[in-house]
Amino acid sequence: MSDRIVGIDLGTTNSLVAFMEGETPVVIPGEDGSNLVPSIVALDGGNHTIIGNAARNFLIETPERAIYSVKRLMGRGAEDITEELKLFPFRLADDMQAGEVLRIQLGERSYTPPEISALILRQLKRNAERFFGEAVTKAVVTVPAYFNDAQRQATKDAGRIAGLEVLRLVNEPTAASLAYGLDKKKNGIVAVYDLGGGTFDVSILKLHDGIFEVISTNGDTHLGGDDIDNLLIAIALDDVKGDMGIEVRRSGEAVQTIRKAVIEAKIALSSQATTHLDVELPGGHRYQREITREMFEQLVQPVLDRTVGPCKQALKDAGLKPEQIDEVVLVGGSTRIPKVRQLVKELFQREPHIDLNPDEVVALGAAVQANILSGGSVATENMLLLDVTPLSLGIEVAGGVTDKIILRNSTIPASATQHYTTQVDGQANVAIHVLQGERELAKDCRSLARFDLKGIPPMSAGMPRIEVKFLIDANGILHVSAREQRSGKEAEIEVQPSYGLTDDQVESMILDSFDYAEEDFRQRQVIEAQREADTILGALEKAKANAVWAQLRTDERKQIGKLEKALIAVKAGSDYQAILKGIETLNQATMRLAELMMDGAVTTALKGKNMNDTGVGEGPTAPHPMAEAEFE
Ligand code: ADP
Ligand code: MG
Repeated sequence: MSDRIVGIDLGTTNSLVAFMEGETPVVIPGEDGSNLVPSIVALDGGNHTIIGNAARNFLIETPERAIYSVKRLMGRGAEDITEELKLFPFRLADDMQAGEVLRIQLGERSYTPPEISALILRQLKRNAERFFGEAVTKAVVTVPAYFNDAQRQATKDAGRIAGLEVLRLVNEPTAASLAYGLDKKKNGIVAVYDLGGGTFDVSILKLHDGIFEVISTNGDTHLGGDDIDNLLIAIALDDVKGDMGIEVRRSGEAVQTIRKAVIEAKIALSSQATTHLDVELPGGHRYQREITREMFEQLVQPVLDRTVGPCKQALKDAGLKPEQIDEVVLVGGSTRIPKVRQLVKELFQREPHIDLNPDEVVALGAAVQANILSGGSVATENMLLLDVTPLSLGIEVAGGVTDKIILRNSTIPASATQHYTTQVDGQANVAIHVLQGERELAKDCRSLARFDLKGIPPMSAGMPRIEVKFLIDANGILHVSAREQRSGKEAEIEVQPSYGLTDDQVESMILDSFDYAEEDFRQRQVIEAQREADTILGALEKAKANAVWAQLRTDERKQIGKLEKALIAVKAGSDYQAILKGIETLNQATMRLAELMMDGAVTTALKGKNMNDTGVGEGPTAPHPMAEAEFE
């Protein structure tokens, strides 16, 4: 087995895996040729898991069997996610008991968030293994800079369940800076602006002697490309109601069709000045309109404005003025929008780096870090990556008050010590309640863990000297120890977050995934092939209704009919290679049909008619466009 280490961006909307090819980080594409694996997991009718692009349709057709945005639930408990439950269609497991680890219902099964993330990681691992032709077992995985201890633990757990040893968790902004090789500049201040699908993060990094330090982070966990999509959808729904007098707001299918179309329009407007929206609605209705970039920019301005406050706050927390920023890095698919680039430039008074794809840059940086860990890079061999703890950490003291031990925005690894004593004469046990947050009262902070220091010999109140030590390691994981110094009694824990998984739970999930792995894999290949066959057969059905079908020679039509029957026959079986072969031959045979349809489409378009009537986008051999769009 090789010692190869891959870099993984486990994103809310999209996930990617990358590796170092010589001196250059490169993204590894999936079987469908796409670099991005949408972070969507679905269960098909036979309870096989489907990941990524292939899972998209489930979100529309059987939403109770699909999940997206699971990153929002990582390392969190039922009581932390009320907001997420309002905004996203997460379904808690039917049989979940209060206080139990969070589980999500997917069809008849239920999964913890780390298990769902593990399915995405396994897909990335498989993509890498197919690419290299050998097993891949080690990875560097990125996490948002603001991820707390529990969220980091949950991400590591996901890696273990997926059969990946997570050698290092790296903050996303740090990874993005590494991808641009900013470490080579030795010194300076870097601002990283990350506008993704549903989250916005801004981080200020300080680079000294080639070492990165995150000095502040800010953001909004409910702000991103989805908000832009929703604005466009709202306009479309209003138009449809106003101009056409039909109300489709309650039709899930119609809304999803509109969503898909507006996302395509949004993406088009990042590179062109105007775009045409054209949506076939159920019931034979058709909605069309032009959108200019100018209109689009006006519409999304309020969304973009919401990123300004967090940027200013991050600068303030870092004690810096915009003119002190030396480098600006753009991250996240939504920063492809020209107006976003302009805003960032104005905010930080710098031209941002745009050479790398903003939705790939984090994975590329993870690959750079992986290379450093494997000793592959001599130049950066001794480089340390310093990150920051996003929230203060402390313990509960008498009166239910929070006593902070490590302050927010401290560079990690970090450690700090405080001394305490007892309240009551002869007190033998002290309860240590570990807290995270900025609030004064323990009840308002997040409870991370509790443990007791026991067996303190009898002393009068105030006599014992209890040293509490907090240590955050390079992965951002907290270790807490307490020691009564007169007696030498001590207790310590590596913080297992209150809502995290126990080691045993993780262990059994790993075993489960091994049990199912091979079978899952075989079945997935068959299902994927069957789905592809359905697509081509469906397209052929439509093409037969088209006028050009009659232009084919009789023998051509016969041959196609024969191959169609053959494909339907093999599709019913479970030999995926035979299915792929059938698809391939049918594709070949329908080549001329597709060409004819294409010609027809062009002529029709010239006559000012609707291109969609010709079914051109759906001809049997038309390649499927790899939209980067989201269906959320
Ligand atoms: P995340 O970090 O949340 O997983 P990404 O960085 O992949 O997500 O960003 C996904 C978002 O970027 C989606 O909202 C998608 O629609 C948007 N996006 C992708 N390409 C473009 C583009 N060319 N123009 C505008 N938005 C885009
Ligand atoms: Mg991202």
